[in-house]
Amino acid sequence: MTDDVLVQVEWLAVAGLAFVGLCVGSFLNVVIHRLPRGTSVVTPPSACPGCGYQLRWYDNVPVLSWALLGGRCRKCRTPISIRYPIVEILTMAVFLVHWWVFGWSLLMVVRVAFGCALIALFAIDLEHHLLPDKITLPGIAVGLILSVVVPPGLVEAVLGAILGWVVLWAIREAYYRYSGQEGMGGGDLKMLAMIGAFLGWKLVLVTLVLSSVTGSLIGMLVIALRRGDMKYALPYGTFLAAAALLASLIGDRLVAWYAGLYAGI
Ligand SMILES: [Zn+2]
Repeated sequence: MTDDVLVQVEWLAVAGLAFVGLCVGSFLNVVIHRLPRGTSVVTPPSACPGCGYQLRWYDNVPVLSWALLGGRCRKCRTPISIRYPIVEILTMAVFLVHWWVFGWSLLMVVRVAFGCALIALFAIDLEHHLLPDKITLPGIAVGLILSVVVPPGLVEAVLGAILGWVVLWAIREAYYRYSGQEGMGGGDLKMLAMIGAFLGWKLVLVTLVLSSVTGSLIGMLVIALRRGDMKYALPYGTFLAAAALLASLIGDRLVAWYAGLYAGI
């Protein structure tokens, strides 16, 4: 094949990846809606909460259906949350950025799967202040198993899972002794353990540092959108999800840069 054809094949593959991202985002919407409510994510088919109208395939085309129907049910015009197209576009973006950073590789596939779990945790924690065990516990197991074949490797992953759990447990204990109040749910511990299982102990530390950055950014965004309501408490899982995604994509470069600072002294 000539170079021209190869370039075309590559872009076709990227377009395919974007399409798969939109479809996975559509599935994540189902997970985000149903998992906190304890219903199956497989059956029954999606229906309008207003009138029970069962969605046909043409009502389920990512982004497009929502846009064409003006964000409303086809039958009863009940508004459909803008969360649906946002999650679909976000998931597509996560797929494409991972291709950009990791290229076509097994690591890309693993980190995309990790990113999808983070998107679901982000949205569920934002809406319900809940980080379901059904995502975090299998996530820890899957992260550890996959670390045998992709970075960071099994030892780093095991240390990462332990460190993630222990750090937040210690913070929670300290906070409890100091203030007598529960400051953090157990879901956060399991979530950071899952992050450690996928990324290793170094990137757990990077995630913790970045979570204060993403916390301020997301906090400012929410305050701006809500016109200055400072009392609205954002759940920590949303910061962790955003920080872990960043750590997954650029964490290794941040660690290398940080190590370089000290090597230069
Ligand atoms: Zn309806």
